[in-house]
Amino acid sequence: MSGMDPAYTIRLIPRQIEPPLDINWLAEWLGVEVEIRPLPRNVAGLYLHTDSGAHILLNAGDCPERQRWTTAHELAHHILNIGRHSPKNAFQINTGKRDHSEDLCDRFAAEILMPATLIRKKAAEVKHGRYDKTALLANMFEVSVTAMRIRLRELRLSKTNRRANIPESSAQ
Ligand SMILES: [Zn+2]
Repeated sequence: MSGMDPAYTIRLIPRQIEPPLDINWLAEWLGVEVEIRPLPRNVAGLYLHTDSGAHILLNAGDCPERQRWTTAHELAHHILNIGRHSPKNAFQINTGKRDHSEDLCDRFAAEILMPATLIRKKAAEVKHGRYDKTALLANMFEVSVTAMRIRLRELRLSKTNRRANIPESSAQ
């Protein structure tokens, strides 16, 4: 898949009908090998392009939700063809140094793990009740509660956010 036009590649990604997205299937479909390895604590994962092809290394110490997010983020590096690190500087990835391409990869991760249309649909289906809606949706999409909270806020589906930030009088 490398060398393809990124926009074209993204359009080819089959649409999710039901969560959760099978991220390992997607990686395989894109020709990227995902390996779980012991990595330094502050390294969630990295994307490598070697003679044997594209690889994503995931930190064995991270929980599955975090590994899913990292896979999605590193797949963005692959598809968008940005940040192909050589093994020498690979460990600089995801260590807190943020730039535009890192934000872009996080945006991509959010979009494919929590597609807006699907989130809206499921958020509407989830009944208000004894369970926390954010936690239920996080469980459904297999992402962390924090990631889901941010996504719901972005999509303006978070009740607490509406209440806290937009007083009735100033609502437009
Ligand atoms: Zn990155």
